[in-house]
Amino acid sequence: MSKRRKKDSKETKKLKFEIHDDFDAEVNEGVASSQLEIFRISQDEKPGVIFTRQHQIVQVHYCREPEIKGYVICNIEEGSEDCVLCQIGRQRQKKLLFPIVSLETEDIEVLSVSNSLRPNALLPQIQNVLESEKKCATFFSHEDYKYTLSTQSLKKDHRRRVVSVIKSFDKAWKAGEVDLSSVYQRISNLALANCTEIKKMLDLKGIDPFSDDD
Ligand SMILES: [Zn+2]
Repeated sequence: MSKRRKKDSKETKKLKFEIHDDFDAEVNEGVASSQLEIFRISQDEKPGVIFTRQHQIVQVHYCREPEIKGYVICNIEEGSEDCVLCQIGRQRQKKLLFPIVSLETEDIEVLSVSNSLRPNALLPQIQNVLESEKKCATFFSHEDYKYTLSTQSLKKDHRRRVVSVIKSFDKAWKAGEVDLSSVYQRISNLALANCTEIKKMLDLKGIDPFSDDD
């Protein structure tokens, strides 16, 4: 049994990747994920393997507008001085993005978690799963603001495939090829200001986001 411990002390701004001991077994090349998808949790149980407490943090706004329909990364986060969505008072939410192995697709997906620490929220339950040293399949479901997580040990062949996916992800991550936040849209302030409903809010609030105030 190999008990090598992968500890990379190299400082990266976003995420230091660390593989848990019991995954550090057989190494095979896995399938590199090209387009990352969100690990979507609904009322039906969905299986996945959480394998690291490392994560990326992003600030997003939810946009109901039909042209957008979904989360958009706050433009201040993107280095802009201001953000049209912040300016119209659209709520900004913090999301913690964890890589997860989906056992449906057997590929890396992105588990997006709010920072709520309510007992039925996702984050404290993920922390519990990560605390148990044995890695396992976790079944996620979600109903009425409550997340339910249950775990089951992984069978050998599943485990082998999971290890392979993690190794391949780790390699891509260390090469700087992975951005978990790519699951969310990035839309320029100009494009946002051209959406009908956002434009209307800017008008109502008397804001011209592109005025030179000198
Ligand atoms: Zn913003």
